[in-house]
Amino acid sequence: MRFAELAGAYARLEATPKRLEMRSILVELIKPIRPPDLAHVLYLSQGMLRPEYEGVELGVADSLARRAVATATGTDETAVAARTKASGDLGMTAAELLEAAHRAETDHPLTVASVYRELTTIAEAKGAGSQDVKVQTLVDLLSRATPLEGKFLIRFVLGTLRVGVREMTILDALSQAFADGTKPTRLRIEAAYNLSSDLGLVAGALVEHGLDGLDAIGLEVGRPIRPMLAEREPTLAAVLERMGGTAALEYKYDGLRVQAHVAKDGTVRLFSRRLEELSLQFPELVADLPKALRRLPAIVEGECVPIDADTGEIQPFQLVSRRRGRKHDLDTAPTELPVCLYLFDVLMASGKATYSEPFPARRTLLESMLTPNDHVGLATQRIVTNEEEAATFLDAAIAAGGEGVMAKSVKEGSAYRAGARGYWWIKYKRDYTVGLADSIDGVVVGAFQGRGRRAGRYGAFLLAVYNPKRDRFETFCKVGSGFDDAQLAEMPKRLAKFESETPPPEVETEIVPDRWMRPGLVLEVRGAELTVSPIHRAEQGAVRPGAGLALRFPRFTGRIRDDKGPTEATTSQELLEMYRLQVRQEATPDAEKGDDAG
Ligand code: AMP
Repeated sequence: MRFAELAGAYARLEATPKRLEMRSILVELIKPIRPPDLAHVLYLSQGMLRPEYEGVELGVADSLARRAVATATGTDETAVAARTKASGDLGMTAAELLEAAHRAETDHPLTVASVYRELTTIAEAKGAGSQDVKVQTLVDLLSRATPLEGKFLIRFVLGTLRVGVREMTILDALSQAFADGTKPTRLRIEAAYNLSSDLGLVAGALVEHGLDGLDAIGLEVGRPIRPMLAEREPTLAAVLERMGGTAALEYKYDGLRVQAHVAKDGTVRLFSRRLEELSLQFPELVADLPKALRRLPAIVEGECVPIDADTGEIQPFQLVSRRRGRKHDLDTAPTELPVCLYLFDVLMASGKATYSEPFPARRTLLESMLTPNDHVGLATQRIVTNEEEAATFLDAAIAAGGEGVMAKSVKEGSAYRAGARGYWWIKYKRDYTVGLADSIDGVVVGAFQGRGRRAGRYGAFLLAVYNPKRDRFETFCKVGSGFDDAQLAEMPKRLAKFESETPPPEVETEIVPDRWMRPGLVLEVRGAELTVSPIHRAEQGAVRPGAGLALRFPRFTGRIRDDKGPTEATTSQELLEMYRLQVRQEATPDAEKGDDAG
């Protein structure tokens, strides 16, 4: 196929904003094409050389493309730059200069195959001398290009080919060009795409083997599946009603969604929700996933959240987003910004696809193949059958650092629906508060052994407020963040005289620390907000039956309140007052967190 035909189609596509018209242009374009040109045309039309998940980049900077245009048209580079200034479009400049050059018609018109090959050469050129290879390859292409071809070639290499063909338009076009164009057909094609994330592959199977050929497209380790998405409901009651009264509720972890592909030999590839590869960014997950999982090859999904390595507690989302885009210091990132991947689904195990199994079967399988370690855990889940159980679970999720709950259908048809948003998964995020103005003085009533760098000494402490009416110490948080090494080293000495073999009778909590402490030492802490929790006891029942107040994301301010005795700590009534004064806001719109946010 001549490249000129493709460039002509791009010119027509560019001229119309109408989706239907775009689709007919596409149908006309692709109908006569066969593999391998077909896949190449589809990739090129989306501005790519390979399916997006492969992350192939041309690596052509503006200056490099400018140099190629200058050389190919015998123009001075500064003149090229000056001409481009007004339009900002080097493609246009290339077309004008090629037009003005009045070259003799070439004996070797560009073909899609040759263009694709040369562009691949450009993408693959790496290291010393690669810039020259890129420029020279581009010059060769431009020298044979018509002005229109030159325009689109330049836009393509600069990543500014905006002919506007989205995946959905391409799927429509495929169904019309190579099948009957009906809705069921379109859905079958889309399903194959959702499982493979590769339009070239889908188109090839369709053309060569018809619709039945699509069924042969299965899962492959290393090729990401388009993620299943959730709907939302405004209340837990509505969530349960949608689910038919029973649902599996899971913590909704606030981090990055990660699809992990673990090959039989333990090779791991990680993909984001948008199918970008994340393997380099999370070396500790790459190392620990094969240790945590049996039944390889496997494809599992989970949410990667920042944690405090010393306490294992979940930290605010922002910390993990700092790791996503990181290109340098990748080896120090795991200790600077530690994470844990909480797995919630399994799409392939022992090399067999499991996505069409009902969700309860997948969960059982996931549990059976997973041995959690420091970096790989299992999403906390509970089957609930009424609103009260759901509300209690939500409280626990929020207090544990989650942003809400994910309800999952446990019905017969609860397969994993790749690429689809539906009511099989429903997210419910609770309002959150804008922050807690005041600090809280909490009494240490227990201590936990440290992990990681803190192994061998205390890493976190159980804190209580004082309830003067009942003369009891009621817990409201476990704090491990905010301590520096010196402060931690000092804690055992400070606490020695309060240590207790048995739970002190004046302490009320559902948590069992590694070491109990009689109320004595007071620490000043801050946190993101006060919430309610089934495992804490501060003012239990005041806000919700059975639940106490809890501090979310607690952090030691560095101040030990030596000036205060335990009964002078913050009281439970004060805590309740603070809870009621908090300003509540709607749950964060997902858009604010960027596309990869979970
Ligand atoms: P949304 O992206 O708004 O459709 O919400 C779903 C997102 O929540 C997923 O893409 C995940 O990144 C994230 N998430 C957090 N915890 C879970 C969980 N237990 N199950 C499924 N998704 C979860």
